[in-house]
Amino acid sequence: MIRLSKSSISDAEISNVISVLKKEYLGMGEEVRKFEIELEKYFGRGVVCVNSGTSALHLALQAIGVGPGDEVLVPSLTYVATYQAISATGAIPVSVDVSEDSLLISADDARSKLTNNTKAILPVFYASNTSCIEEVYSFAEKNNLRVVEDAAHCFFNLHKGRKLGSFGDIVCFSFDGIKNITSGEGGCVVTSDKAVLKRIQDARLLGVEGDSDNRNQGKRTWSFDVKFQGWRYHMSDVMAAIGRAQLKRVEEFSIKRRALAQRYVEKLLDFPKVSLVNKNFDEVVPHIFVVRVKDRDATRDKLLERGVQTGIHYVPNHFHSLYQTKQSLPVTEKVFRELLTLPLHVDLNFEDIDFVVDQLKRVVLDE
Ligand SMILES: *Cc1c(COP(=O)(O)O)cnc(C)c1O
Repeated sequence: MIRLSKSSISDAEISNVISVLKKEYLGMGEEVRKFEIELEKYFGRGVVCVNSGTSALHLALQAIGVGPGDEVLVPSLTYVATYQAISATGAIPVSVDVSEDSLLISADDARSKLTNNTKAILPVFYASNTSCIEEVYSFAEKNNLRVVEDAAHCFFNLHKGRKLGSFGDIVCFSFDGIKNITSGEGGCVVTSDKAVLKRIQDARLLGVEGDSDNRNQGKRTWSFDVKFQGWRYHMSDVMAAIGRAQLKRVEEFSIKRRALAQRYVEKLLDFPKVSLVNKNFDEVVPHIFVVRVKDRDATRDKLLERGVQTGIHYVPNHFHSLYQTKQSLPVTEKVFRELLTLPLHVDLNFEDIDFVVDQLKRVVLDE
């Protein structure tokens, strides 16, 4: 069976975790701070690590004052995590359609959904594609909105030569088990906004003022004040131990992921019944490899019988009971039925990709 996705764990992650376990301090401490410092060096600005990409998004929104009565513009074509992060603040996720060429948030549709309550726009870099950035920022500037980027799919991406996350308002990454790097579970917020960083440092530790500074040194805060609602969202040293080992391997991972995606492109480019969502991976570290096929569900079943796991990214969020709307999103609703995610992880090789493509072609041609 060719797995859709999985983590890749080497001896380095295992021995890092063992060293932390042996210290018998498992909470948030020195190891998390070291991971943050390494990430800060990479991004060239402030980073706060948390226990998931979802909590990164939630805390970012809370830190810019998004709350009950506010609206956040978000593409429906994303993981439910993005929506839950918005609704967790009490704000309303306003479903926006995607552009058919990029599958990224459509600024035209976003414009039609602006109201006096719109506080922020939350672009999702679906399948590691970031081509909407300029349009999103010019839209946000014109309409006085904050931008929180869901960059869960694109750790280590470049955008026009710059590191993704090194610029922009607030950028959130996920380190869950199958993302470009993992810390077991985990995530981080990257921004130049010092007030936002400070607020998230407190918010991840139940709002306990200044606790992050103490925990960074393995200490605790015994007398403190709490001024706002916080959450138990900090990263643990065990998670950071995994993340730090993965960060050292990210170059190797990115070369592999890119090469595998390019192999898919070469093999599928001229095959008429399957169309590619992304063709250019020069600056992209692909988290998922998505194609469009008619009869997606039957294709998935038949591929599984032939030993190939596939995925669906994603069921549109405005289809979920909690986030239903009266408005329809024509592009999302048309495209999602055709979206098929093919296996992609760093322990695959070219023969695996060729096998997947061969099986896919046979299934589609009904051979
Ligand atoms: C993975 C993911 C998240 C959430 O990250 P977790 O670390 O799993 O909480 C958010 N948005 C998108 C698009 C994702 O793929």
